[in-house]
Order: sequence, then C-alpha cells, then structure tokens
Amino acid sequence: MDSLPGVSVGLKRKLAKLGLESVQDLLLYRPRRYEPAVRQCRIADLWGDEEVAIAGEVRRTSVRRPSRRLSIVQARVADESGEITAVWFNQAWLADKLRPGTRIRLRGQLRRNDFAVRSYDLEGASETADFAPVYAASEDVSVKKLRELVLQVLPEARRVPDPLPASLKQREGLPDVADALTALHRPRSLGEGEVARRRLAWDELLVLQLGLARRAKTREGAVAAALGAPGALVAKYRDVLPFRLTSDQEAAVRAIDADVRLATPMQRLLQGDVGSGKTVVALYALLRAVENGYQGALMAPTETLAEQHLLTLEEPCRELGVRPVLLTSALAAKEHAGARSALASGEAQIAVGTHALIQEAVEFKKLAVAVVDEQHRFGVDQRRALAEARTPHMLHMTATPIPRTLALTVYGDLAITEIARPPVGRKPIVTSWVTEERSAEAYRRLCRHLENGRQAYVVCPLISESETSEARAAEQEAERLQRAELAAFRVGCLHGKLRPAERRELMARFKARELDVLVATTVIEVGVDVPNATIMIVQEADRFGLAQLHQLRGRVGRGSEQSYCLLVSRSKEEITDSARARLEALVKTTDGFELAEVDLEIRGEGQLLGTRQAGVSDLRFTRLRADRELLEQARCAAAELVGYEGPLNDEVERRFAAVDPSELA
Ligand code: ADP
Ligand code: MG
Repeated sequence: MDSLPGVSVGLKRKLAKLGLESVQDLLLYRPRRYEPAVRQCRIADLWGDEEVAIAGEVRRTSVRRPSRRLSIVQARVADESGEITAVWFNQAWLADKLRPGTRIRLRGQLRRNDFAVRSYDLEGASETADFAPVYAASEDVSVKKLRELVLQVLPEARRVPDPLPASLKQREGLPDVADALTALHRPRSLGEGEVARRRLAWDELLVLQLGLARRAKTREGAVAAALGAPGALVAKYRDVLPFRLTSDQEAAVRAIDADVRLATPMQRLLQGDVGSGKTVVALYALLRAVENGYQGALMAPTETLAEQHLLTLEEPCRELGVRPVLLTSALAAKEHAGARSALASGEAQIAVGTHALIQEAVEFKKLAVAVVDEQHRFGVDQRRALAEARTPHMLHMTATPIPRTLALTVYGDLAITEIARPPVGRKPIVTSWVTEERSAEAYRRLCRHLENGRQAYVVCPLISESETSEARAAEQEAERLQRAELAAFRVGCLHGKLRPAERRELMARFKARELDVLVATTVIEVGVDVPNATIMIVQEADRFGLAQLHQLRGRVGRGSEQSYCLLVSRSKEEITDSARARLEALVKTTDGFELAEVDLEIRGEGQLLGTRQAGVSDLRFTRLRADRELLEQARCAAAELVGYEGPLNDEVERRFAAVDPSELA
C-alpha cells in the first residue's frame, strides 16, 4: 500500500523506527491497550481523585511561567453546572488554541481545586474518548501523534485486501477486514476491540497453518535412508568425548535414533538454551549417517558460526577418522572446488557450511542427515532437497527459547526435543549492571580474571548504520583498550568484516589462549565456544535486545568455572523504561524461557524473543497464550483450504517466501 501521505521527511524517519512506513503499517499497528472508559461528570459534581471526563466551554485562558523550565496553562472552563480551572503543564502553545467560546472535552482528575488534564479534545472526540487506543510510542513519536496519524488513514481500511474467503467469514462469524481495522482503532467498547483483534489474529494463524500444511504436503511420500540401530562409530564417539552425555542429551540421542531408523525422513527440532550442549548431539546425528556409509551436513546461519562448528568438530572427527570439510562462500575458488569434489565423490563425509551455500551449491554423493542450526526462517530448508527424490533426515537446532505454545504454532509439523538442563557442574552466570561511570571498575574485574589465566570478551556497542562502521568502531575500541585498560594483555578484534581466513585464525588463536581478550561485535552472538572465557563486558548494553544479550552472555559460563557478565549502560534515568526492564531481567535470571516470558511482556505478544528467526515476526495480533482455541480453529480451516487460490494464497506465499540470503547474516 501507499507510503505515508502528507508526512514530513523528519517524521517519516521517526515513524520508520517504529516499523511504520506505509498506510498499511499504520492500519495494522495494534493498540497495546485502550484507555478505559471514564465517567462523564458535571463540573459541580467533581469530587475525589477519580479520573473522569468533563465537557464545557472555555471562558478565559492564561499562561504562567514560574520558572524557566516550567510553564502552566490555565483555562477557566464552564458547563451548565459550574466552572473550574483546568491546568496543563509545559504546553504553553496550547494557550492560543483555548480561545474563549471554544468547546472542549477534558479527561483528568481533581487536584486541590483545579482540574489536572490528562488528555483533551478541542474538536471532535478522540483523545478523551473512552477506549482511545494506546499505541507503543517512542521517544520521538507520541501516542497522541500516532492516534492522529492512524485516524487520518483509517478511511483507507476499505482498500486493505481481505484474504479470508467469504464462506469462512460467514461460518466463523468474522467481520470484514475493513470493519475489523476500524473497530481495532476506534472500538465503541472493549468487546468490539477484542472481536477485531481476533479477526486479525485469525488471518495470521490461518496463513501460518496453511504454510505448515503445505509444507507437510510437499513432504508426503518423501523417503530417507533408514539407518538402523547405532553402530561402532557412535560408540567410539562416546568414548572420545571428554565427558558423559547428560540425561537430556541421552534422551535427544534416543529420539534421533528412533527417527533415523525409519525411511520416513526425520523432522525434529532440538531446542536448548545456549551452552546446553546441542552441538554434541548434532555431531552424533551426523555420525549416524557416516557409520552407515552416508554423509551428513551441518548448516549454520553465518560463516563465523560455520567456522566455529568446524573447529568443534575437527578434533573428534580426527580421532574417528572422519573427514569434515568447510564450505563458505568466501573460500578461495580452489579450496571451494576441492571441498565440493570431496563431497561429490564421498571422500569427505561431513559438510559444514552456511545454509545458503549448502542448499544451492553442493552435491553430495549420499546425503542422509542434515542438521540445520538456528535456521532463520522456516519454509526455506527443503526447497532444494525436496526437489530430489530422496530427502535427508533433518534435525533443526535452536537456542531460541520459545515457549511451548509458540513452538507448537511455529513448528507444528516438527517433533520437539528439549535439552532443559545444561551439563552438570555449570554455574549460572553472575550478571551485574553498572553505569558508565563505574566502567573502570568493570575493567579492573576483567583484568583480575585475565591475571588468573582466564580469557574475556568485550562486546562493542551496536551501530545500526552499517556493518562496516560497526567493524571500524570495534577496531578502534580494541586499539584503545590495548593502549589503556588492557595494556598488559593480548587483545584481538572480531567483527563481520574480517575475511573468513582471518576470522578462523583469530578464533583458533583465542581458543589456543594466544589471545586474552576478544573485542567483538555481535558476530560472537552465536556459537563461539571457549570454556576458558569467564568474563564478558557488554558496552552500551541498553541498546541491545533481550534475546541478543542473552545469546551474547551465553559465550561465557561454558566451563565449570564461575563466569560473569557485566552490562554497562548509561544511568537508569537516561535509558528507556524497556531498556531498564531488559537489563533488570538479565541480572535477575539466566533462564532463557523465563527471559522469553519477560520479553513477551515488555514487547508485547508476537514480538517474542527470536520470533524473527522462527519466521513469525508478523504475528502481531495473536495472543499465543490466550488464542489456543483460535489456533485450533485455524488449523482445521487450513486443512480445508490447502488448495485454495486467491489473496490468501498470495499471503501464504509472501510469508513463506524463500529467504533472501543476506537476511541470514
Ligand atoms: P550449544 O550448542 O547448545 O550452545 P554446545 O554443544 O556448544 O552447546 O556445548 C557447550 C559447551 O558444553 C561445550 O564446551 C561442550 O564441549 C560442553 N558440553 C557439552 N555437553 C557436555 C556434557 N555432557 N558434559 C560436559 N560438558 C559438555
Ligand atoms: Mg552451539
């Protein structure tokens, strides 16, 4: 739909930060809540401190400026019962609008003998209206402004395509999308707003379920290699591991064994918090293929992570006589060709690379098991594999702690295994939050760890402009630290602009303790695994999301040593409420599922931890916990509508579209 009409460039930019770039975005901007109804009251009957609405006419207006920072507008307002002085703070410009004779409606409460105004309407009722929507606003765009803008585009709701078939709407008693949008933003009762929300949630869930149904259908009849019972290679693997598998890992292994025994391709999700020990299980699954004369593939979302996986795999593979190869787009042409031919001939038994590359450019001799780590969107994985007659057994891994209800929604067609407890002997990471004035202290603590032979990470601030400027900033910060706080130690810098070979070498050096500190951007978010690293400083932590901080923090606490995470931010007063809530939550708990719930509260439903990865970033209207019944209805409807063509179909296509590889980075 159209971009925003009549909006200044400056405001456009501010709106874009809220994700509002088009008329449709505004129309679909879900109110977080509605102002509850208040009693309309005659001025003469005002009493107590209850919030009420009054309506009347302005008699006269004045402005006072008791200090440089404070202005007070006072307007004498009268109705048929009496008069009162209404008071606004720091809105001096209002005085001009409050001319004698102006009709006005005010919402607020009695304060001493005056009426303290919370919201007001000069013409028409919108601000003080009962059930006025309250939108998620930002520092630069107020709720009032958002209401104005939404109201302005609301007539366009008629032009929003309605994806639901008429018969379905009729059967389920659902309003048209245009009516739903109008009621969403201007309900006459809370009930009306809820009906509207449910209709829009219906759309989302139906699209989601259709996508899943379609995916399940394309899988029908697919055949995989039946791998029988576990053999000698995985037995040896268990011996080679320097530890015993935890009971959760054992359970995961049993589930995988049961799956790959059959010729029906495995479709299993392995869920476990960062550091819970998924990679060990992944390698087990790959080795099940290898011991049967087949190959395995491990697909990671980024090159760093793929390289990291290779480093982890290399050692056990060497002892087992298995050959893994790395496949990333930045390999030199010769290496690349070498790796590919080794996979095509079967000389190499395991491929480790990015999703995009393995899906598009690799031919296997006999692929039987594919592990997909942190897949960012669903629907993308099997496009290619499915075109072939044989489908590998698929193990999807995620560290995104998705509450069960959501997992069922998103991965409705996958079997789910959870690694709930980390390996024994792990101590929960101790997290503290300090303000920038105390960052010197944080670095002193970090240095103490280094002096004791431990290693550390320093995470640089998030810079949104580009990866290049972020990389540059990280390098500068690394140099600065090397000269100042960390002068006595060996500092390396890891960022997304390094060439793969450089990155690999850097990681290998850090792992081999040739470096003490890794100054890094968020590229270390996933996968980096150095148990000797026991402390992390995150600079400007208020700028990161909760999920991101949780992932970052997971880089420490990977050994038996007590680990620490120090979050550094501006003072509590200077950061936003939600940033404060995020940092407080991180200090309070290391439990990913609990943090997911907190994130849910802070950001609203649908904006759940990591849902972007799961592909459901567009679940705006669904309340996963409350809408289970709706989900069930949508699932039934989807089964009927699998073959349906029309706008609904386009929506499914759009939402389940193949991912743009750049999004995987
Ligand atoms: P994840 O992939 O879930 O983030 P990893 O598989 O990378 O976790 O494991 C994190 C760390 O824990 C690694 O250093 C790994 O060697 C170690 N680890 C895994 N399983 C166990 C276990 N059963 N006992 C002790 N350490 C383990
Ligand atoms: Mg991992």
